[in-house]
Amino acid sequence: LLIGMALLFFVIALWLSHLMSRKAIIPIAKAYARQREFVADASHELRTPLSVMLTSIEALQLEESIDSDPFSKNVLNGMKDEVQSITKLAGELLILARTDSGEFVLDRSLFNPRAAAERAIHKLQPLAQAKDISIKLNAPEELTVNWDEEKLTQLLVLLIDNAIKYTPGKGAVDVNLADGMEKGVRFLAIEVKDNGIGIPTEALPCIFDRFYRQDKSRTRQTGGHGLGLAIAKSIADAGQGTIRVDSTVGEGSAFKVRIPL
Ligand code: ADP
Repeated sequence: LLIGMALLFFVIALWLSHLMSRKAIIPIAKAYARQREFVADASHELRTPLSVMLTSIEALQLEESIDSDPFSKNVLNGMKDEVQSITKLAGELLILARTDSGEFVLDRSLFNPRAAAERAIHKLQPLAQAKDISIKLNAPEELTVNWDEEKLTQLLVLLIDNAIKYTPGKGAVDVNLADGMEKGVRFLAIEVKDNGIGIPTEALPCIFDRFYRQDKSRTRQTGGHGLGLAIAKSIADAGQGTIRVDSTVGEGSAFKVRIPL
């Protein structure tokens, strides 16, 4: 009887602990989903007032009286930089909230990845020119892939932007695209290579983490929030691809993405 009671007690205890752990898991999952929704909604709501502020600042910048006053001009330039920076942050947070909720999915179509790379380079050319950095594109003219054109362009913009930011003046950035075949699966290989400052070995495991910045004091200088590579990784993940980096301090970095097609 004693053994039977002990067994019964053991089974009831197991059952109760199972119930309690389920009860604990559900509210945590719910709270996490609510937090994700909150971040997505807040980032979305911020965009409209920010764009109104930007338009107002730009209208003020056109005013003759402000244009001729160096102090006002300076203040407005500073405000514009900050508003643009928060707008970028809101957009990045929205992407990451969508990633977490599984809404960040591929929108496939047939396109030429070289054209996507040309668009990304064109967008960043003013930044590169300001630092006298040359960007070289090496990609086949006739290549068609069935992937997400917007996400590929975004990924390239993020990697090339970093390559420019973390390369001193007169440097060089190479953008290489190629398709290949491995174990019967066709893939697109993307490489963005710079001869910039490089990344210390101990920082390599952290650079794809959200809000990670190797040198936090440089935020003002380079204008990032430490979310660019986390988004680049989300894009690669959305297509079951991989992203990795080879880097040597003082010599440069090469970010390599491989996407199964
Ligand atoms: P951010 O550039 O806004 O800081 P990222 O997520 O894009 O954020 O990058 C995270 C960190 O990785 C950067 O702060 C920088 O230290 C490092 N990093 C990224 N790309 C490069 C690069 N091409 N060269 C050197 N360091 C880089």
